[in-house]
Amino acid sequence: MAYLDTCNNCLTADSPAVAPVKVTPDGPEAVVATYRCPACGAVWICGWAAQDEEPAA
Ligand SMILES: [Zn+2]
Repeated sequence: MAYLDTCNNCLTADSPAVAPVKVTPDGPEAVVATYRCPACGAVWICGWAAQDEEPAA
């Protein structure tokens, strides 16, 4: 899974990486990923360079 991030609100040594709940294109080579922490419910976004991860159809 691309675009994994960690919650800054409850980050600990054993915090699992959080997968985005939504990834929105933000230009031809960028995306904005939206996250919701499963532990504390914090919501945040993070911009990324687009990664080629289209599943084979
Ligand atoms: Zn959290």
